[in-house]
Amino acid sequence: MSNDFANKSKMSSDLFPGVPVVISGPSGVGKTTVKEQLLARYQDLGASISATTRPQRQGEVNGQDYYFYSTEQFKADIEKDLFLEWALVHGNYYGTPKGPIEERLEKGIDVLLIIDIQGGIQVKNIFPEALLIFLLPPSMGELQQRISDRGTETIETLRSRFANAEHEISYARYYDFWVINRSLDEAVSQVRSIIVGDRCRVGRAHSRFKQLGYDWPGLESLEEPKSEKEIT
Ligand code: 5GP
Repeated sequence: MSNDFANKSKMSSDLFPGVPVVISGPSGVGKTTVKEQLLARYQDLGASISATTRPQRQGEVNGQDYYFYSTEQFKADIEKDLFLEWALVHGNYYGTPKGPIEERLEKGIDVLLIIDIQGGIQVKNIFPEALLIFLLPPSMGELQQRISDRGTETIETLRSRFANAEHEISYARYYDFWVINRSLDEAVSQVRSIIVGDRCRVGRAHSRFKQLGYDWPGLESLEEPKSEKEIT
C-alpha cells in the first residue's frame, strides 16, 4: 500500500479545488452502478479510472472500466510513485493513477473514486477534506444474492468475496457517511446530497464564493472569535 502521505499534491490555494469523493462498500453492493448513474446525471462530477492486475471480465473495456496491467507493470508504477493510493484486494493489485485525479481536483471538479477501504483510508490521510461514503446493502442475504447473480466470478472468488464482505463492513465506522443501497435512485440522490452539502460547508464555500466575486461585509476572514465577549 502506498504510504507516501508526505506527497500530498500541491493545490494552488487561491483556486477552490474539488474534493475526492470515495465510495466504498462490499463487493456486489452496487458501487459501480451508483457511480455510473451519478456521472450520467451530473456533469459537474469526474471519475477516476483505476489500474488493476485482475483479469479483464467479459464486456469490460481497457481504459474505460479499468486500466488492465500486468503485475510487473503495476509494480513498476508503484516504484515510480504514479499512484495516489494502491492496495491488494482479493489477491490482485488495484490503484488510483495520480495524474488524472490531481488535474481534475485542481480544476475544481469533485472526483469519484470507487475504491476499497484500504484505499479510502489512504486517500483520507492525504486529503483530510475527502468525503468517505460507505455503501451498505439492505441485508447480508441480499448482498450474497447480488454477487452470485452477477455470474462473473468463479466459486473460489465468490467465496473470497463473501468472506471479505463482513471484514469490509467492519471498517464502515471510519467513514464520514453511510448510505444504504435499497434502491438505486435513493442511493444516488443521497450521495449527490452529500456532495452538494459539502460544497456549501462554510470553509469550502468561503473560498469558492470569494473567487466568484461575492463579497459580504464582515465575512472577509473566517477566523473564529476567541471568546463570547467578542461576539457581542
Ligand atoms: P472489482 O474487481 O469487483 O472491480 O473490484 C474489487 C474491489 O477493488 C472493489 O472493492 C473496488 O472498490 C476495489 N477497487 C477498485 N479500484 C480500486 C483502486 O484503484 N484502489 C483500491 N484501493 N481499490 C480499488
